[in-house]
Amino acid sequence: MAARIALVTGGIGGIGSAICLELADRGFKVVAGYYPAEKDLAEAWQKKQATEGREFEIASGDVSSFEDSQKMAQEIVSRVGPIDVLVNCAGITRDKTFKKMEPEQWRAVITTNLDSLFNVTRQVVDGMTERGWGRIVNISSVNGQRGQFGQTNYSAAKAGAHGFTMALAQEVARKGVTVNTISPGYIATEMTQAIAEDVRAQIVAQVPMARMGTPEEVAYLVGILCDDRAGYITGANYEVNGGLFMSF
Ligand code: NAD
Repeated sequence: MAARIALVTGGIGGIGSAICLELADRGFKVVAGYYPAEKDLAEAWQKKQATEGREFEIASGDVSSFEDSQKMAQEIVSRVGPIDVLVNCAGITRDKTFKKMEPEQWRAVITTNLDSLFNVTRQVVDGMTERGWGRIVNISSVNGQRGQFGQTNYSAAKAGAHGFTMALAQEVARKGVTVNTISPGYIATEMTQAIAEDVRAQIVAQVPMARMGTPEEVAYLVGILCDDRAGYITGANYEVNGGLFMSF
């Protein structure tokens, strides 16, 4: 059988890169989606991976735009093939206390982190249901589950992501397509490097594991959820947070 094709949005980012590697190691043909303005970065990323023995496709698309997401998906289908796995990983933060938050910061986070789930998933879900197999994994956040000071925008978008997961999971379950959420805690990437060092130290002090997670620890779970044997897992949220927030 030809290798299944996986699209990872935010694929050249911290967690996205690790997901690309994990899926490639599991035999998927992986396309790393990247933000159009980061073409040079994406090409450099692709070259670096190739020198380390891994061949990846890359595809440009602004996931906050429906039209751009459509173009990206169409381009992947014609150049690489039908998309069997979608990992919605692209995301941003624009932290501000609610009192100081401007409409622009609200909108940027909602469109990039939540509208994107509609924009990209809409392009691939029909193909998955028609072929009778698919895996969709949405990367949410612990801060969508418990809220976070200074993140009304991000917490709203990330909580919304799991609502999206649960609703879509029901619509596509009979067609062999699973939809799940992963909610990472604090993971050492550029996104968390942007947090002031003293604040980061305070955060780590609250984590039972007393450290940040690694992108690979999130990617491992994505790999499991995309496995053929994970076909009965759907509409679920998985925490990868070192014990920072526990729920069931
Ligand atoms: P990152 O900044 O390293 O990667 C995010 C990627 O998304 C970047 O490559 C960026 O260019 C891309 N992106 C941003 N806007 C885009 C757009 N409009 N279109 C296409 N691509 C776009 O961040 P990360 O830490 O790897 O985060 C990945 C995901 O994990 C995000 O959804 C984030 O919210 C989530 N997350 C991260 C953490 C953490 O601690 N790092 C914790 C919980 C959840």
